[in-house]
Amino acid sequence: MQNNPNTTLITAKAPVNVSTHGGRAKCLQRLIRLELPVPTTVALSFDAVRQIAEGYLPDVSAIVEQFSKDTLLCVRPSSEDPDWGGPGAVLNIGMNEIRYAQLSNTLGHDAAAAIYSRFVQSYAINVARLDPDVFDEIPNDGSDSLLAMLQAYEEETDERFPQDPREQLAAVLGSMARAWDGTSARLLRQAKGAPADAGLGLVVQEMIPGFGKGECGSGVFQLVNTVTGLPQITGRYLSQSQGREALGAGSAALYLEKDERGPSLEELAPRAFEELKEDAALMRVKLREEMQIEFVIGNGKVHILDGVRVPRSSRATVRIAVRLAQDGIITPQEALMRVEPNNLTELLHRQVNPESKRDVLGSGIAASPGAATGRIVFNSADAQASASRREPCVLVRRETSPEDVRGMHAAAAVLTEKGGITSHAAVIGRGLGLPCIVGASAMRFDTKNQTITASDGRVLKAGDVITIDGSSGEVLAGAPEMLEAALDDAFQSLMAWADAERDIGIRANADTPEDAQTARNFDAQGIGLCRTEHMFFDPARLIVMREMIFAETSEGRAAVLARLLPMQRDDFTQLFRIMEGKPVCIRLFDPPLHEFLPTSRAGQRELAEALDIPVSDVTRRVDEMGEYNPMLGLRGVRLGVTVPEIYDMQARAIFEATLEASDKGDPVVPEIMIPLVSARREVELVKARLDAVASAVRSERGRDFDYRLGVMVETPRAALRANEIAPHSAFLSFGTNDLTQMTYGLSRDDAGRFMSAYIQKGVFPEDPFHVLDQDGVGELLKLGAERGRIGNPGITLSICGEHGGNPESIAFCREAGFDYVSCSPFRVPVARLAAAQLAINHKMGDQKSSLAQMLWKWRARNRK
Ligand code: PEP
Ligand code: MG
Repeated sequence: MQNNPNTTLITAKAPVNVSTHGGRAKCLQRLIRLELPVPTTVALSFDAVRQIAEGYLPDVSAIVEQFSKDTLLCVRPSSEDPDWGGPGAVLNIGMNEIRYAQLSNTLGHDAAAAIYSRFVQSYAINVARLDPDVFDEIPNDGSDSLLAMLQAYEEETDERFPQDPREQLAAVLGSMARAWDGTSARLLRQAKGAPADAGLGLVVQEMIPGFGKGECGSGVFQLVNTVTGLPQITGRYLSQSQGREALGAGSAALYLEKDERGPSLEELAPRAFEELKEDAALMRVKLREEMQIEFVIGNGKVHILDGVRVPRSSRATVRIAVRLAQDGIITPQEALMRVEPNNLTELLHRQVNPESKRDVLGSGIAASPGAATGRIVFNSADAQASASRREPCVLVRRETSPEDVRGMHAAAAVLTEKGGITSHAAVIGRGLGLPCIVGASAMRFDTKNQTITASDGRVLKAGDVITIDGSSGEVLAGAPEMLEAALDDAFQSLMAWADAERDIGIRANADTPEDAQTARNFDAQGIGLCRTEHMFFDPARLIVMREMIFAETSEGRAAVLARLLPMQRDDFTQLFRIMEGKPVCIRLFDPPLHEFLPTSRAGQRELAEALDIPVSDVTRRVDEMGEYNPMLGLRGVRLGVTVPEIYDMQARAIFEATLEASDKGDPVVPEIMIPLVSARREVELVKARLDAVASAVRSERGRDFDYRLGVMVETPRAALRANEIAPHSAFLSFGTNDLTQMTYGLSRDDAGRFMSAYIQKGVFPEDPFHVLDQDGVGELLKLGAERGRIGNPGITLSICGEHGGNPESIAFCREAGFDYVSCSPFRVPVARLAAAQLAINHKMGDQKSSLAQMLWKWRARNRK
């Protein structure tokens, strides 16, 4: 048989490969090479299985002859990557009436009947394709039920249950080969990243009898904890000897971890336990992985049926990879490649314990990861009141606006009915590290009566406790058990190794000192985007902003803004100090001014009182400032050109803060970024005013300082005309949120309503606000970068839209020669790891195929 490449008895030297026989077959061969007690196994190659699916069986007698007479066999799948799955294993092949009679003598009737019945049932369902309902009514108790099952089989198939082990094996092989070719199996594995023509191998293995005088049983064994990744012997063991009941029919489960359910394996079979410990340790070193052993104890003797990678949570993945590298078993580079970047987000936040029960009320877009439990509140004031009582709350809004930021600060999580992945709630939620679900449009929000109605009709009111799982997008009832964030030593080691490898910079988008501190904690190399408008929503500042909006003249505006100057200066000084000389890129004021005006009658009355003007003046001004299309209206640099006093004040605050922060620390070179540019002249006008403010501050203070001025490329025109904009800019930063909005002509705040329909119907492959549209928006990025470099060869290039933290976008930006990406502080570790993997992949050569595979995995993970 060794000479037949399609059916191979696995020996130390047999030609068995992952690419021809699959991972399980190869792993078994490795175990045999380690001289571990693996039962006789025959591997069928991908080619053999393909041929079987087409109706050409290999020599089944030759396979059966490899095993001792009367041995029962099992068949298991062996795909190239265990994640791609495969048909379920079929056990006890070879059971027939003769074997039943023999086993009845040694095991007793009931035990023999249980083995035979299980086989009949499994064969009927998996091979003869009978409906499982056929056996529903038959009780599972001994020889009577066996007879009933055999009868049911005969009635349904008009055939006797096959008695020839060869015939049984041939039919099992045929059904498993065909199952792999089925449409749903094919689609399922392709969704996990398997190529369309992925092959399936099969292994036929001798089954070890689970009976005898000594201890008998079966189980799984591993050296680490599946959830934490910490060293801990764990597993499951089912003893046949205890009570002499066969194959789980009533026998107690006995656990390796000693607990109240029964004696541990260590107590039952100390020699076998020691042997398994040694075997697992040997496998860890030689297979360079934490392995779970599937074993059988027959008469006190250990047999190893299989070894698989220990199943693991995200935090265990990191811990296991780092420990393997620290023990010198793998290199730090390999450890980095073994952790999927997006999985890191689970470590950075609290999460719902995967093992706890979930009572789902509804779902929306998972906009900011992590989970939090709190009482429902429907407005910012209630959120703040709740925070002052130290009671966690979930802020529920139809959508959020800048006015809700203070409520978001006070809340433990946010839920909105509307919005997409770059809507206001989503962006702020990510920045604050606050679990957030947006676009939960299948739930009914009645903010007036303060209720939300779940998808199944349950009505929730203010004060009810819910949990927001911002990682899955599910709204859960009550307070399921949580797992805390895990920024432990293993995480820190992995991040340090990542930084040593990567070749693209990673900065954070940070608006507040808290954000900046988070960015520092995650070792961001600077701030790539500070959205200054959020600084104006503090109640004390909001009123000044409103006064400024109501001022009639330029002087009037400047005078009011002068009151904001010290506050802004303070903001920037704090940011510069926290960042300790690392670059800080401050974006000048961006939103339309009317976002600062009250929309409700009560708010307008309050404002009239504060400004001491008639409420009709307030209402008129609010009406006057309304725009049909505010996101395409008077905002960004357009305000800088037409209401220049705001930028003047901000520039002065930045420069004065620069001098203050440089006094006591590293010299600061602030970066100032102009939003929403579409024409060169806009940059020239703003630059002239900023230069004038800089000169004034220099001469007033008698001190020199530098600053870098840059442009945010957020309109298609800015990308197209980058060559004439670049000479006036030290850097171009691509704001892909607005750039995506404008390239598609698709409102980022309204897209949530129909995005899922668009994706379902295949109009968009993914939400372009979530995953960078490389074909369209990406084309503008490439064009803008190329033309920017023509206009200014030394120009710095970066991306600061929400896409910046997405591994696929990082691959794109790295390829396009960008200097850095900037993303939410909580995405920084993901970005650092993704960048490291790209650099390692690049160094390893064979870039194209392995890069494509890596991107495939990232994308598949992103879609989950
Ligand atoms: C952008 O448009 O990509 C951006 C970063 O700015 P904002 O999200 O504040 O509009
Ligand atoms: Mg923008």
